[in-house]
Amino acid sequence: MPDDANALDPRIWPASATRDAQGALTIAGVGVRELQETYGTPLYVLDEDEVRAHARRIVAAFGAAAAAHGVRARVYYAGKAFLSTAVVRWVTDEGMAVDVCTGGELEVALAAGADPSRLGFHGNNKSVDELDRAVAAGVGTVIVDSLVEIERLADAAARHGVVQSVLIRVNSGVHAETHDFLATAHEDQKFGFAMVDAPDAAARIRARSSLRLSGLHCHIGSQIFGVAGFAESAARLVDLHARLREDGDLPLLNLGGGFGIAYTAADDPADIASLSTGIVDAVATECAARGIPMPDLAFEPGRAVVGQAGVTLYEVGTTKSVTLADGGHRLYVSVDGGMSDNPRPALYGAQYTARIASRVSDADPALVRVVGKHCESGDIVVDSDHLPGDVAPGDLVAVPATGAYCFSLASSYNAVPRPPVVAVRGGRARVIVRGETIADLLNRDVGVTSEGNA
Ligand SMILES: *Cc1c(COP(=O)(O)O)cnc(C)c1O
Repeated sequence: MPDDANALDPRIWPASATRDAQGALTIAGVGVRELQETYGTPLYVLDEDEVRAHARRIVAAFGAAAAAHGVRARVYYAGKAFLSTAVVRWVTDEGMAVDVCTGGELEVALAAGADPSRLGFHGNNKSVDELDRAVAAGVGTVIVDSLVEIERLADAAARHGVVQSVLIRVNSGVHAETHDFLATAHEDQKFGFAMVDAPDAAARIRARSSLRLSGLHCHIGSQIFGVAGFAESAARLVDLHARLREDGDLPLLNLGGGFGIAYTAADDPADIASLSTGIVDAVATECAARGIPMPDLAFEPGRAVVGQAGVTLYEVGTTKSVTLADGGHRLYVSVDGGMSDNPRPALYGAQYTARIASRVSDADPALVRVVGKHCESGDIVVDSDHLPGDVAPGDLVAVPATGAYCFSLASSYNAVPRPPVVAVRGGRARVIVRGETIADLLNRDVGVTSEGNA
């Protein structure tokens, strides 16, 4: 039971989130009623300064941690967390490079004007056309994921008369999730090369004059709270790195992303300063133990850059008290979006919190489940939280920490148009991705046109 079901926990909400004199939520100085009147609900609200601050802090933290050992750290924004041209401009402004994992994501980054030489291209099944486009565009690094891809990429680079820098994605056998990590000899999953297969991949890359092997890459998971899994993975990678550098230059080691954020008060991720020094120091220790120079490093945070900057705004449509088997009651609060704008609760049982955004209330807190409007019982927005018990139709409800993997995973399930994204900064709001309309949906349906009916 919370002390105050109106409070905005600063570990979860953007730093600019506050309540105005009437008790309404404002983000970056923009009130939620104004947002609703101008853009409607549901609405993704993204705090530009919050994104920029996280990007800046992360770049500075890894840069300082690497500099302490005389090497450099490049920090890529993992675009799949939230990719639009505006966000690419903000994070590149703040010193980040950008990772993409499909031809489509590559086009968004290029459309934003990102420097191609500071793009990383991931994916376990990049097509020949995607590789060709990446090489032609001058993408800095391609992270290769299979032997087939090595030959395809070498051919594409040869066709374009360039030498393409590549990293080998390997599975360190360390799989980390939130508090704990699991370390195995082999990981049975689709991404990357098993450690034992990496030397063969390295030899094949080095045999092709159109490719240059720059180093190893590893990404151990997502929403990770501590250093231990990264340190274990780094030890295994440095061991392989030391062996591969006996046969040639290997200037770089990319340790991926996965740094966690707080979605609820129960989440306690390590801060970025201790994560960055912990991981970089672990690499330095392993290199020193083997008497090899430390490589330059790279990192790929996505969620930690944008997650806390996003708030989704909904309007309450109905509420109902459901009598449970034990005679207790649960208050269901239905909002005008749901699994189409945030599929994470349905996909992974992800937990979120909610607040009434349009007012504060002294009513006793009630245990509620916030649900969407989709035709699916798993259509849950917030599985369990306390809201003031007088929550009612017409109230605005805000869900924080929705900046990562909500917009990018959205669908138009049940023909619910995807919401717009509005950026807020300094008391002003502007659309950075327009909302879908029913007309957009019908446009793709050829049965609507006379040709389609013919
Ligand atoms: C998804 C992904 C990331 C980013 O993960 P976050 O948890 O958002 O930091 C980084 N690197 C790779 C290869 C990924 O697939």
